[in-house]
Amino acid sequence: MTTMMPVKIICSTCKKEFTAIYHPSICTWLAVDLIQEIYDRGYVVQCEHCKIGIPLHYKVLINSPLGMFYLDLGQEQETIRRILTEWEIIDHEGKVIDWEAQRKLIKKRKQREAVQSFKDF
Ligand SMILES: [Zn+2]
Repeated sequence: MTTMMPVKIICSTCKKEFTAIYHPSICTWLAVDLIQEIYDRGYVVQCEHCKIGIPLHYKVLINSPLGMFYLDLGQEQETIRRILTEWEIIDHEGKVIDWEAQRKLIKKRKQREAVQSFKDF
């Protein structure tokens, strides 16, 4: 499940307070855009006063097709990218893997194989 929580932030640039939304947990195949964003530039919220982007550094629970794990958003962007690739959430071209399409492809291939082995028999 992808959850959302409000958090109060004091902008380091204009020193004003605002409320941002962050995600304590993210389900990778339901929040594709969010995962892509984290891969590309980390988790960044925008100050509602001066509009500057502020990266949020926290541990997010990632629910991926291969399992669940905590991702520390305070790490180097390169490390975040490596982890997301290792968990097969992101492909080697830097795009979120479409698991729904993958599943359908595997299902179709299995059906074809079943028909094929029936013919062979
Ligand atoms: Zn600001």
